[in-house]
Amino acid sequence: MTKNEWGQLKQELKKTVGSNNFTTWIAPLEFDDVAGEVASFSVPTSFFGNYVAQTFGDQILYHLRAIDPSIRRVNFAVPTSASNDPQAPQTPKAQRAKSPATDPAPEAAGDARIPTAPLDPRFKFDTFVVGKPNELAHAAAKRVAEGGPVTFNPLFLYGGVGLGKTHLMHAIAWELQEQQPGLNVVYLSAEQFMYRFVQALRERKMMDFKEMFRSVDVLMVDDVQFIAGKDSTQEEFFHTFNALVDQRKQIIISADCAPGEIENLEERIRSRLQCGLVVDLHPTNYELRLGILQSKVEYYRGQYPDLMLADGVLEFLAHRITKNVRVLEGALTRLFAFASLVGQEITLELTQDCLADVLRASERQVTIEEIQRQVSEHYNIRLSDLVGPKRLRVYARPRQMAMFLCKQMTSRSLPEIGRRFGGRDHTTVMHGVRRIEELSRKDVQIAEDIELLRRTLEE
Ligand code: ADP
Ligand code: MG
Repeated sequence: MTKNEWGQLKQELKKTVGSNNFTTWIAPLEFDDVAGEVASFSVPTSFFGNYVAQTFGDQILYHLRAIDPSIRRVNFAVPTSASNDPQAPQTPKAQRAKSPATDPAPEAAGDARIPTAPLDPRFKFDTFVVGKPNELAHAAAKRVAEGGPVTFNPLFLYGGVGLGKTHLMHAIAWELQEQQPGLNVVYLSAEQFMYRFVQALRERKMMDFKEMFRSVDVLMVDDVQFIAGKDSTQEEFFHTFNALVDQRKQIIISADCAPGEIENLEERIRSRLQCGLVVDLHPTNYELRLGILQSKVEYYRGQYPDLMLADGVLEFLAHRITKNVRVLEGALTRLFAFASLVGQEITLELTQDCLADVLRASERQVTIEEIQRQVSEHYNIRLSDLVGPKRLRVYARPRQMAMFLCKQMTSRSLPEIGRRFGGRDHTTVMHGVRRIEELSRKDVQIAEDIELLRRTLEE
């Protein structure tokens, strides 16, 4: 490919990525050369390279292959003179764009091969920590990765954001490619599937598209909920799916919820997705989070040999950051980067300081409704009376208690709280909050009620 051809191709890309993305991410790319299967581009920073590789790598590769089908990988690298990149993350992610992540088994290469999306080199089985919440999903993934006769088709993995679906899928792909290099394993997101489908439609290459997908040995489609409501993509996905199942080829699907819960998904697809093995990744528990943190720390010790970590820090993080593993990892990365920058031991205090925003954001958000429900249950009154107009003490006191808890436990303003209590004025809310504060100092029963309610709500 020549620089000129890249210039033309860029204009093509502009149409698909939009002009903002184009100006920010595509225009600055400098085409260097094609060596073997790899097309190389220079990027200003490695963060930039990572982002482009993750977000547009697939599209760029697709366009490049239209000009030169021998290209199988795209490499975004910072020219060596400029590689002192202060923005570069401290994790191996920085190497991601440069590493030979896409390696679709050259031995069996043929023109009809679909470039699989880049596999993250960190997402392998040996870096996946197994605990109660994910042991079933892990076992199923392991089984599929053995590549034996297809016993359940598809394997459907589902679970909330950041619980390890993509990690497990990449791990399967890595393992299969390692064990059976000739196998045509294709991993892609549902979004990429749709992108390729639309592209094929536009270029009138539907036959090629069908043929490519029908020649796959193992197909993995990540985040399949994405195609819900997108009718023609669903239709095509359904046909691809059936063709592969008929040929007894393994299919692995992930989604953020169970097949039956994906809205706007055609009934026949839903039922096909349910015919294999459906396993979910449950929210993490404390032990799993701690295990993941410990394994990451092992890894960081290699990167920061002088690292000092006080007792209790990991336990603290595992307790406090419960949302998802990605957030947990991000917190640890930031903590270590910060500590190495200031050259201090990572203490609890430093942790609280450095991660104040993350810790605040992952505090469980209690809603006004929950508080109202809990309080009316506790005092054995109806919810409608709690927020209604009655002024009798049996209603007024619990109402004040609920207002007090709303003020303390949510970030809602007084007028907002007032509105949610039958449209009361903010001064009424303020009065209620003060009243409970006063009472809690002299009335043991009230103080106990507060404590009990707060604890129940925080669970
Ligand atoms: P999902 O696809 O479910 O949203 P990912 O697979 O992208 O989540 O996981 C988010 C991050 O958390 C990744 O960096 C992944 O490596 C990490 N992660 C999730 N679960 C585990 C686990 N059990 N052990 C180690 N790392 C994990
Ligand atoms: Mg994912």
